[in-house]
Amino acid sequence: MLPETHFLVPFAVGLILYKAGIIPWQLALVAGILGVLIDLDHYFEHVLHAKKNRFSLLATWNTSIHTHRFIQRSFIHEEIGIVLVTLLVVLLFFVSATTSIIVALSYYSHLLLDIKSLEKRKVLHLRFGRIYIAESFYGIVFDSFAIIVMVTALAL
Ligand SMILES: [Zn+2]
Repeated sequence: MLPETHFLVPFAVGLILYKAGIIPWQLALVAGILGVLIDLDHYFEHVLHAKKNRFSLLATWNTSIHTHRFIQRSFIHEEIGIVLVTLLVVLLFFVSATTSIIVALSYYSHLLLDIKSLEKRKVLHLRFGRIYIAESFYGIVFDSFAIIVMVTALAL
């Protein structure tokens, strides 16, 4: 999924929680931003494994979207990451239930959206200069659904 999907889905769910009086709207925004930042591991893996353009954000992006020269996902996207973040979510719950909800919302939505079968069927391939964009069918579906949820939540 592209970053906008990783932002929109937890933000939309966060807006529902805001409308239900569970969290302030600012934390819905934080959930969306955290949902995107989870993919920062792509950059660190790129720095570790790239043969050239190691510190380039553009090269990191294009490796992830277009060339797929190596896997950029770190342990945070794997079982050990799920176990560690789940432990963090449980521990956080006893300190701040609201913070725990935000971390859980951003992390678990990110993992669900990263499921390989949802990303497989790319229907949109664009190139702007040296930047490649490839969006999956389900990415577009989730973006559309999140926008509908956001508009509905804000309208009610
Ligand atoms: Zn990811």
